[in-house]
Parts: sequence; C-alpha cells; structure tokens
Amino acid sequence: MLDSFDPDQVSAPKGYFVSGRLTKASGEQIAVLRPSDGLEYACLTSCTLEEVNATVDDAWRAFRQSDWATCAPRQRALILRRWADLLEAEAEPIARLEALGSTRPIRDALAYDVPYTADCIRFFAELADKVGGDVAPTNSNSLGLIVPEPFGVIAAIAPWNFPLILAAWKFAPALAAGNAVVLKPSELTPFSILRLAELAIKAGMPAGIFNIVQGSGLVVGDALCRHPRIAKVTFTGSTKTGSAIMRSIAESGVKPVTLELGGKSPHIVFGDISDLDRTAMSISRGITSNAGQVCVAGSRLIVQSRIADVLVDRIVKSFGSLVPGPTWRSTTSLAPLISTRQVERVDLIVRQSVSAGATLLTGGSRPGAPQNGAFYLPTVLGDVTSEMPAVREEIFGPVLTVQQFDEEDEAVELAGDTNYGLAAAVHTSNIDRAMRMMRRVDAGTIWINRYGRSMDYILPTGGFKGSGFGKDLGRAAYESCLRLKTALIDIA
Ligand code: NDP
Repeated sequence: MLDSFDPDQVSAPKGYFVSGRLTKASGEQIAVLRPSDGLEYACLTSCTLEEVNATVDDAWRAFRQSDWATCAPRQRALILRRWADLLEAEAEPIARLEALGSTRPIRDALAYDVPYTADCIRFFAELADKVGGDVAPTNSNSLGLIVPEPFGVIAAIAPWNFPLILAAWKFAPALAAGNAVVLKPSELTPFSILRLAELAIKAGMPAGIFNIVQGSGLVVGDALCRHPRIAKVTFTGSTKTGSAIMRSIAESGVKPVTLELGGKSPHIVFGDISDLDRTAMSISRGITSNAGQVCVAGSRLIVQSRIADVLVDRIVKSFGSLVPGPTWRSTTSLAPLISTRQVERVDLIVRQSVSAGATLLTGGSRPGAPQNGAFYLPTVLGDVTSEMPAVREEIFGPVLTVQQFDEEDEAVELAGDTNYGLAAAVHTSNIDRAMRMMRRVDAGTIWINRYGRSMDYILPTGGFKGSGFGKDLGRAAYESCLRLKTALIDIA
C-alpha cells in the first residue's frame, strides 16, 4: 500500500489529448492550485475554440474511419479490459496525480478511485457483446428489427469531486457502445485523466476515439455542447450548470442530454433502529466522506424526536476521530475542500443559518491545523427550518442539518421539501416501514439501513426533480449511449 508522498515530486502531464496524443494547447493560461495547501502546482493551457472544434472533427473522422464502431464488440471489450489492466498496473503514479490536485486523500485514491475506475471500464466492456437489439412481433409478411447503434461523437463534461471515477461513468459506457468521446474535465482537476487517455492508446484504442479538451466550462464546455457534430451530451455537475447546458443545446439545435446534478439528500432515521452506533457512523461517513463534496452527501438528518439527542451526540463524537491533512499524507481522513473560496461559501451558509436561528452543535469554523489549505470542520446545525439556506442549498461541504419528526408522514413531508431528488436513506428495523418509505420518498436512489453506493456497477444512479434525468452506471447508462434504429423488411 502506497504511503505518504512528496507533492513536489509529482509532475502533471501537459496539454490536451487529440488524435491519440498529448498536444500543446494555445489558449489562455489557468493557474491550478493544490486544495491541500493552496499552492499553484501547475498551469493549464486552455484549448482555443479552433482547437475544440478540430478535436470534435477529428473524433468524428475517427468514428467514421476507424473500426471502433464496426468491429466485433468482443474486440472492443478486449481493448477496454486491457485498458483497465494498464490503469491498475499504473495505480500508484495515477493515484498520486489524482491526490495531488484534488480533494481525494492518497489512501482513498489508491484503495478506491483507481480500482473503481478500472472496474467500471470492465463492467461496461462486458456489456459490449451482450446487449443487442430485438426482432419485433410484426405481421409474418414482414420482419421488424430494432437495431441499437452508437450515436457518433458524445461530449462528456465532468466535475472535480471524483475526477477519474465520474469521468469513467461517462466515457466507459459511451466507448463500450462504440461511440467516440470528447471529454472535458473540470479546470480544477484536469490532469489525471490525461494519463488514462495515454493508456487507452497503449491498450489498442484507435487514435481519435477518446479525446480530452481542456479549459473552462463557460468557453470550452459550452462550445462542445453547441458543436453540430456532437450527437449527445452527458454531464455531471451542478444543477445551475445543467440548466445552462440545456439552454446552450436548445439554442444550437436538438440533441439528447443526460444530466447528473446536485443533491440535498436526507437520512430519515426512525426511533426503532437496532444499532444506534452503526447508524451514527453511517450518517457521519455520509457527510464527511470527501469532506461532504459528494453529490449524494447525506446532508439532512431527519430523525424521530425520541432518539434525536442521543443520535446527534454520537454523530458529533464520531467526528473527533477525523484527521484533517493534506491529500498526500496517508493518515489524512478529513479531505480539504476544493478551494478557499468554497470554504468561504460553506462558512457563509452556516453563518446565515445561525443568524436565522439555527444552533451550531459542532464545527462551524476552520480547524487549527493544517493552517494552509481549504479545510472546514464537520459541522452540525440543529433547530433549522426548511427555509434556511443550510437546508435549501447544496452546500458541498461537511455540514449536516438536523430536523425532527414524530410521525412517518411528517418525515416524508420534510424529506420531499427540496428541489432536489438524488438520493435518500431510511434507517429502521421495521421492514414494512422500510418498503413503504422506499416507495414514498421522491429520490432516484433509496438506501435502507446503509448510506452510499457500493461497487455494484449494475445499479443505475441518477436523480429526480432538480437532480437531473437519465442514468449513469447500470445497463441503463450503456443503453443511453445507443440510439435505436427500426428496420422493416418485406418478406412476403
Ligand atoms: P459545475 O457544474 O460547476 O461544473 C461541472 C463541469 O461543467 C465542469 O467541467 C465545468 O467546467 C463545466 N461547466 C461549467 N459551466 C459550463 C457551461 N456553461 N457549459 C458547459 N460546461 C460547463 O460543478 P462542479 O465541478 O462544481 O461539481 C460539483 C457539482 O457536481 C455538485 O453540484 C454535485 O452535486 C454535482 N455532482 C453530481 C453527481 C451526480 O451523479 N448527480 C456526481 C458528482 C457531482 P469548469 O469547472 O472547468 O469551468
């Protein structure tokens, strides 16, 4: 297992990835900072609009001229599996690169992010030669075929909070289904994915099938969405950006889009839970993992009044074992936030809520150490109301609000009183209640007596309401990267 590393010994690959190689971009320069200590560790050169357009055109040519879309799907699967193997063989340097400039502690990057990314590629590779079309039950004088085919070039736009994993949710099903991909990572975490692109070529993927453009969302991301040769856009990020993307697409034409957006996910805890410590730990992890910078962070605790005090007390105690530290130290268990600006935003929301009457039960400030870097203490706010910003807004930091209920109906009401509908957890020992709540709570994913995703890539993930539409992962994500063609053949 990799130990702590020296961040000054890790250098970031430069450029964007087009035609199968790293290429120097010529747009504006963007300083890239390490969240752990705020130091500028690299400079990102953005793509110009010409470079973005040329990359899409090149991907389109590769889609039409290489055999990626037309080869035996088994062959595509073989290359994808080889790619996953190469990624695992380079796990340590890639995990270091991931940890260096993101909020992912090295221990997690190596034990989770890199193997998860490799397995996600393998999962979709397996579908390549298993999911096919259909013969329709038409009149016997004709044969009706439903034929899935790749779209062409898919644009994938990814956020910074799990740079490799969330990019893989996008590119893996798209590539497995035979598309070419142009990916735009966040300008805050643009580098680790470049190593992955180089490995794709080493694994045998034709040049031009997997491409990466660099730069800001407003310029480069927007240009991708508007490009006429982009046949579909798949996006993960905030709800605000999701609606901007829908606008850009509508203004420039018509194309399908998958939106995985923000969340404000509740933990609904009933007084009948059998193991208070287990539930407390599940809630604690649900809001402190990646310092709360997780789309499905469990940020609203909705707890039956009779156990509220004792449960909150255990959650607060569990925070004591978290060690804030730089992402390159193996002992770090509380990650930094992505930037000091984000720390200020989180703090502002906490202070506004306290001014509006919330009670600060723990946290609400930066830790004493480390002194540099974007750290914020795990925070719990009691006495909140649904109108307070801490309850309404996606904070993307380690802030948990506590609301109490007595009856099940009240819990359902509180849980649904949000614009989001990404995930929710129900904690109860009563199986009937668990199943009832599973049906009643308005969210794309419901966890019962647990919190968070597993390594079961077969389970689709995606939100309702302001959390977006369409699914990542699962067979649903793979099928969303294919369009259906219907053929009717006269055989009379
Ligand atoms: P943003 O929405 O700010 O950015 C996401 C990506 O979109 C970035 O690559 C960004 O580029 C790009 N972008 C920004 N503006 C535009 C635009 N107008 N057109 C095209 N692309 C654009 O989100 P964050 O990166 O801050 O990520 C955090 C958000 O992601 C949270 O809301 C979180 O809930 C959500 N998320 C959702 C998940 C889900 O599965 N539902 C999973 C993980 C995160 P750049 O940053 O380079 O400017």
